[in-house]
Amino acid sequence: MEHNWVKLRNRALPEYRQGVKDFLDFAFEHTTMGNKNFCPCKRCNNYFAKTRDDVEGDLLTIGILPSYTRWFRHGEERRFETCDTLDSDDESDEDGESDEDYCAAFKETSCVAGDSSGNGTPKGKKKRKKRGRGPTRNLKLSKELKGGEKYEIGWLNGRPVGPHARALINECTKLVREQQNVPLKFTDWKKVPDINKRKLFDKVLEYFKVEGQEKEVWRQMGNSYSNYRDFLKTKFFKPYGEATEEARANVPPGVERDDWNCLVGLWTNKDYMDMCLINKNNRSKNDIVHTSGSKSFQQRSAEEKEKMGHDPTRVQLFDITHVQSNGQAVNEPTQDALMALRDLTAQVNEGVLQMSQDQMFTEVFGPERHGRVRGYGAGITPTKLRGSSSSIMHDLEKRLQESEPKRVEADAEANAKVESLKGEVDQLKSMLEQQASQMAVQSRRFEDMMAQVMSCMTSRSAQSNRASREITQNRRKKRK
Ligand SMILES: [Zn+2]
Repeated sequence: MEHNWVKLRNRALPEYRQGVKDFLDFAFEHTTMGNKNFCPCKRCNNYFAKTRDDVEGDLLTIGILPSYTRWFRHGEERRFETCDTLDSDDESDEDGESDEDYCAAFKETSCVAGDSSGNGTPKGKKKRKKRGRGPTRNLKLSKELKGGEKYEIGWLNGRPVGPHARALINECTKLVREQQNVPLKFTDWKKVPDINKRKLFDKVLEYFKVEGQEKEVWRQMGNSYSNYRDFLKTKFFKPYGEATEEARANVPPGVERDDWNCLVGLWTNKDYMDMCLINKNNRSKNDIVHTSGSKSFQQRSAEEKEKMGHDPTRVQLFDITHVQSNGQAVNEPTQDALMALRDLTAQVNEGVLQMSQDQMFTEVFGPERHGRVRGYGAGITPTKLRGSSSSIMHDLEKRLQESEPKRVEADAEANAKVESLKGEVDQLKSMLEQQASQMAVQSRRFEDMMAQVMSCMTSRSAQSNRASREITQNRRKKRK
């Protein structure tokens, strides 16, 4: 039994509400945990057990996991679909994967829709029918290109742009997903051996004119690689919740057992889980939401250039990639930032304010985070955008050489100045010495004078004392 209502996005629909009721009836009839059972809402993710009322509340407010079409955590038999829901390779690290994107991906591929018709498949017999777009989805591409012609690819800030950019991205995804090309056991694309990367690049060269663009193509493959691992985790690991050994035992189709073992080992590693949690929290702080979908900002920028005849400015590009068709941003922080940027632009255009595009961004968002430039999408570093440090150094050296003659001239001038200053200082010094010796003479004179004054004063006071004594004696005599 499939439960397609779990993919409904509108939780107010009667189908959804009825589905929740059916689920609760089913789950609590089979529960082995007293009055509790695992909650399959998007937040609890089948990790936490709750009472019927609480589960109902979560499913009606938060919503059920859209991937939970087989209730294997609640007693149903498990079976996997070999469907491929991942379509967007770009920018998924820009804002993190949202539940909405996830649902949309399911709708797009309608991977289970074909199954619901049933057409008499015997129950219990495991039929592995391939639905949706699997690794062969670029077949069209290879057929089209049999003539030996190759696709031209434009590049902007290290990202593929132009009409064939999507085909290149898809090709990278296809190649990376083929296990014989890149085993999944590497924790990071950077750790994939060069020989594998080289082979993959040669395959891309069969269809695309990307000579000398190894770095850019490998970067694209790196994105595809990590996206594929994320996809496997979401689809074939997370639904098991705490039953990680069960997850390990069920190797997804198209994945080697050894590789799967490595992946499950990584996902259950304590350090790795802590790191994921930190990354997730950091992502949720980034509340600026773009509306560019799976299209890279570079692709949008190139399209805009076609329309306008010149590259969009940084602020224009932000505007284009962060509004919906109604001209509004998705959420309040984005709208605020948008309005602030527009306001600054207007002031600059009127001549009221003098500010560069970069300064406007700093004004609105604060200083740039290390290693990226706001408004250009993930992976665009300040160095990529403004030239590498070595080229900057080269430029500086050149300017230094050019200024050398000027420096010599300036040095001569400065030396002359110093000499004249030295002369002045010497003059002042001798003047001060003269003054000091004069002062010494004068102070000696002053001391002499003071001594004279003092002796004069003591003799006077002695005289006056004698005089006053005589006067009093005379008075006494007169009274007698
Ligand atoms: Zn819940």
